[in-house]
Amino acid sequence: MQTYTNSSAVPLAVAVYLATDHYDYIPNTISATALLKPIRARVLASRVPADMGMIDIMSMSKSRIGTSIHDGFEKAWVGGHYKESMLKLGYPQSVIDRIVVNPEGPLPPKAIPVYLEKRSFRDHMGYRIGGKFDLVAEGRVADVKSTGTYTWTNETKTEDYQLQGSIYRWLNPEIIVDDLMAVYFFFTDWAAYRLKSEKNYPPQPVMQQLIPLLSLQDTEDFISQRLQLFDQHKTSHEQDLPLCTDKELWRKEAVYKYYKSGKIGPRSTKNFPTAREAHEQLHKDKGVGIVVEVPGEVVACKYCPAFPLCTQKDRLIADGSLKLETA
Ligand code: SF4
Repeated sequence: MQTYTNSSAVPLAVAVYLATDHYDYIPNTISATALLKPIRARVLASRVPADMGMIDIMSMSKSRIGTSIHDGFEKAWVGGHYKESMLKLGYPQSVIDRIVVNPEGPLPPKAIPVYLEKRSFRDHMGYRIGGKFDLVAEGRVADVKSTGTYTWTNETKTEDYQLQGSIYRWLNPEIIVDDLMAVYFFFTDWAAYRLKSEKNYPPQPVMQQLIPLLSLQDTEDFISQRLQLFDQHKTSHEQDLPLCTDKELWRKEAVYKYYKSGKIGPRSTKNFPTAREAHEQLHKDKGVGIVVEVPGEVVACKYCPAFPLCTQKDRLIADGSLKLETA
């Protein structure tokens, strides 16, 4: 059982909300999202003793808000509210009447099938793979993501979303027939004033991204590789586990700090996103200044259940890549 600390002393009503996990864990099943996790995190997480795995309640806020958005989505469709909402949106009754939510068996003629939160399983290489998609409408799988705008601007998760959607299709090839998946983004930090100054900034607080799915064969090959890697390492010593990659660590871009005086001080003269730009400035100043590369901050460890047992995170803390005070 996951246990929590409440070090910020949030009021009980809020703490109970944050401590309530609605996720329906299915024993002896590897979920689509677990297949995407770093192998180090997956193996170590299962070894963390209950009393070492305490999580501060505050770190659950983003996850719980995400769950609440999913719940609202499901309620809007499954509870029948979609009929009234579609009328408000101007859809004709004839279209609304064609929608069938979570149909079973043969579809009526001209039906528009919409499936919500369907859980499916499939056995592969001695494991049971499971997954629950958010929505499938007219054969296209969709996933709802509440996340920061950074994910959109830098496309940091596109490959993960593609794999997740592809695994859902591999689990449900009879109802997911579209080669594209949709990601519905709800940005948690969207602000209109950032539109002018930030490149690729999402123009609206809610956006859709279409991503091509992998073929069924490529998806199965990916799943097989992940299961093989897990088999190979499930009993490995911590030191022998593969290190998490920068991508798995959600490492941000490095920053190149430029000190015009030639001395490293508490404040740099200017920060550059690339070494080339920083050295161009150095050249302009006739080589007097100094450029210092600051490795990009890593984020994933702050949310990783393997944290207490992982020595890679200790090294990341030591080299300044992992800053826990900003968690
Ligand atoms: S704590 Fe960080 S380095 Fe260790 S397994 Fe988790 S994500 Fe990887």
